[in-house]
Amino acid sequence: MEKNRGPAGWPSVGRTQSGSSNDDSLSPLAAPPLDQIPTYLKVKHLLSYFDVFGLDNPFHRTRDDLSVDCTTINGRRCMNFAGYNYLGLSGHPDVSAAAKAAIDRYGTSASASRLAAGQIPLHLELEREIAAMLGVEECATFTSGYSTNVSAIGHLFGPKDLLIHDSLIHRSIVTGCQLAGGRRLRFPHNDWQALDRILTDNRHKYRYALVLVEGVYSMDGDIADLPKLISIKKRHHALLFVDEAHSLGVLGDRGFGVAEHFGLDPNDVDIWMGTLSKAMASCGGYIAGKAGMIQNLKLTAPGFVFAAAMSPPDTAAALTALRVMKAEPQRVARLRQRSQLFLELARTRNLATGTSNGSAIIPLITGDPVLAVELSDELLKKEIVVQPIVYPAVDRSASRLRFFINALHTEEQIRITVEAVALLVLRPRPSPLKVTLAHHQ
Ligand code: PMP
Repeated sequence: MEKNRGPAGWPSVGRTQSGSSNDDSLSPLAAPPLDQIPTYLKVKHLLSYFDVFGLDNPFHRTRDDLSVDCTTINGRRCMNFAGYNYLGLSGHPDVSAAAKAAIDRYGTSASASRLAAGQIPLHLELEREIAAMLGVEECATFTSGYSTNVSAIGHLFGPKDLLIHDSLIHRSIVTGCQLAGGRRLRFPHNDWQALDRILTDNRHKYRYALVLVEGVYSMDGDIADLPKLISIKKRHHALLFVDEAHSLGVLGDRGFGVAEHFGLDPNDVDIWMGTLSKAMASCGGYIAGKAGMIQNLKLTAPGFVFAAAMSPPDTAAALTALRVMKAEPQRVARLRQRSQLFLELARTRNLATGTSNGSAIIPLITGDPVLAVELSDELLKKEIVVQPIVYPAVDRSASRLRFFINALHTEEQIRITVEAVALLVLRPRPSPLKVTLAHHQ
C-alpha cells in the first residue's frame, strides 16, 4: 500500500480506531470486539471520505415509493437509474394483485421448508413455468439469488473438482466455489482462449470441471460468448454454469435470456441459474436443468432442505411477472431500444461506457472513486439517481457510475440524463482528490 493512500487508492485521512487501517492479523488471545473487525473498520474508514469531501453518503439511500423510471428520495421526484426492475414489473398492477391474493390465501410466510410443510401449488407452477421458458426439464427455487449460487454450487461440487470462473463473476458464485472446496481458477474477463488453455492444462486432474459465467455481467453490461464457451466445454468434457441474473427479461426477443439471444440449444448448458429479484419483480433464485440434478437439490441441498421456502407473495409475484413478460414481449423490445439509445448517446458524447454492448447495464467508468461519488451526488441534485460503484466492489481504476435502464424509461428521460452526465463529466473541474490532498500536505 502506498504511503498516504487508503485502501485501493483512496487517500488516507488518518488512522482507524484499531490504530491501523489495513492490518488483518489477529492474535487468538486478543480477538477484537465485533465492532472492531478490520474489514468493517476499512469500510468505515472509506465512508469517512464523504464528510471530508462534503458529499452525501450514496449508500443505503432510502426511497419512498416504487423503483421504476422515477422514484422519490427525500421528498424529491427523481429519474431513477439505480434499480434492477428491468421490465417495470415491480409495481405492475397484476403482479401486485397476485401477491396480495397469495397473502390472503396462504399468508405472508411459507412457514416451513418445502420438505416440511412449506410447499404450496404456486411453487410448483413457478418452477414448471421457468423450466418451460428455458426449455429444460426441471427447476428448483430458493429464497434468494445469492443463496441459490452458494447452496447449489457448494452442494453439487467438492474437493475433487475444478471450478473455473470469469474474473468478473458475482461474489455469490465465488462463495459457492469456496464452499465446494474444489480447486478454483479464474480466467480473464470473457477471454475464452485463456479458459481453453486452463482446461487443456488442468482438466485431466479433476473429476468434474465446471465453467461458471454470467449471461450479462453485472458491472459491465457485456454478454458472455456462449457459443464459444459451449464448444470449449464440450471439447474438454467440462460442465457449464450460466448465471442469468441480468440476462433474464433482457436478452432474446421474448426476454427468455442468453440462449434465446444466441439461438442455442438450452441443454448445452448444464446448470442455468437466475434471480427473481430483477426482471421478475420479486425475491428469490432458481437452478434449472436436468430432472435428476434438480431432484438432488430438492432432496439434499442444505440451502433448500433446511431453509423456509419462498414466501407466497414472492412466489406469486414472480409467477405473474413471468406471465406478463411472455404476454407482453413489447416490454423487452422497449427495454432494448431504450438501452441502445442510452449507449449510442453516451458514445456520441465520448462517455467511457467500457465494454457494455446491448444489455440494460451501462457503466460510466470514472477510474477514480471520488469522482464517481461526486458525480452521483451532483446528478442527485439534478434529480437523477444513479449509484457510484467503488472499492471494495471494484478496483479503484474501475470506479464507475452504473446506470440500469428499464422498460419504463422514456426517450426524453434518457436524453436528459445522458446530456446532464456529459456536461458534468466534460466540465473542467479541480479534482476534489487533488484539492484535498494538497490541503492535507
Ligand atoms: N448473481 C448475480 C450476477 C447478481 O448480480 C446478483 C445480485 N445482484 C446475484 C446473483 C444475487 O441475486 P439476489 O440479489 O437476487 O440475491
